[in-house]
Amino acid sequence: SAQGCCMPQKDVTTLQDRLDDLLRIAKSNERKQLNFQQYELSLLNSSGLEPLLKLILEEHKHRFQLTTVTLMLHDPEYEFQRLLESVPEIQQWQNHLLFTESVQRLEQFFSLRRIPRLTSFSPHQHQQLFPSHSELGSVALLPLIRQNQLIGSLNLGSRNPNRFQSNIGTQFLQHLAAVVSACIENARLHEEVKLVGLRDPLTGVNNRRFFDQRIVEEFSRAIRNKTALSCLFVDLDYFKRINDSHGHQTGDQVLKHVAQLLNDSLRQGDVLARYGGEEFVVLLADASGVVAADIAERMRKTVAETHFTANSGKTLRVTLSVGVSTLEPGSNMTVKRLLQSADQAVYGAKLSGRNQVKVSAEA
Ligand code: GH3
Ligand code: MG
Ligand code: MG
Repeated sequence: SAQGCCMPQKDVTTLQDRLDDLLRIAKSNERKQLNFQQYELSLLNSSGLEPLLKLILEEHKHRFQLTTVTLMLHDPEYEFQRLLESVPEIQQWQNHLLFTESVQRLEQFFSLRRIPRLTSFSPHQHQQLFPSHSELGSVALLPLIRQNQLIGSLNLGSRNPNRFQSNIGTQFLQHLAAVVSACIENARLHEEVKLVGLRDPLTGVNNRRFFDQRIVEEFSRAIRNKTALSCLFVDLDYFKRINDSHGHQTGDQVLKHVAQLLNDSLRQGDVLARYGGEEFVVLLADASGVVAADIAERMRKTVAETHFTANSGKTLRVTLSVGVSTLEPGSNMTVKRLLQSADQAVYGAKLSGRNQVKVSAEA
């Protein structure tokens, strides 16, 4: 045959083996490409900051068989951290989702050209970006850039020392970094816009719409985790008189100041909202009735001791009546009853003379 006359059988076999290898590589490249395209599509289609971060911090690792993926975001105004306050996953992402106030801290990892950096892992240099991994072999640090600003760094870590080497082409990773940057920026703006509709413009705290959503979430979480959840209703005493004697604008200033005082007395994760005119509500996750009454009393005292300033320059005082209700673990409370009980408790506080905390008997 034609083949037999030109080449010894041994060489033909070698050639076929090489061809098979090349085909395998081509197939594997095609799979990689497809895998990447699918990942890219899911990034672009993700609907909000939380699903996006889940893709980056969880999905990415499995899809590309990495040992770890971390993300450090430049967050000088704590904007991301505020937007993520109510995301339960954020605890699982500890040591993977990192924030820095200083852009210099990010810049130190990149050259002035701000291109991906592929290098062997050095605990000394890279610990900040991989706080819970000291056994990595090589890392790829991808600068995330939007409008010429460094907004963060996506950090890929592999146990394999040969996975990321400085001689490997970085075009693919550069592309990935550009997509991730655009998606993060987009998700942040999207969350901001959503928040505008959920915040009270006068006091800057959450509005009732936000609260109505959150109480349902917090309630189910408390049931699921068998933890307590307390609710405070806060109503300013004789507020009409403040408007009447000092003017509506002073009334507004006092509301703002009170909101700030209430906010200052809460832990991260607690929820404060303006419920109506001169009424606020607070949700205290994992707080028993006793603890909640204590916090309520602290709020009452702080406000009662504060000298507020009227527009005229005169000082004035204001007091609060607070009602406390609690979902204790194991009770068969509902969201509606939790709210009603707190409301009734405030009413009780008003009847007993105002400037006091009343705890609902219902649990
Ligand atoms: P009580 O101790 O029984 O709660 O007396 P109160 O005067 O606080 O109660 P009432 O509900 O009768 O009046 C609430 C007042 O709060 C009426 C309204 O003028 C005032 N108020 C509600 N929202 C605002 C606001 O946004 N700005 C100002 N300045 N006043 C407000
Ligand atoms: Mg009222
Ligand atoms: Mg009132």
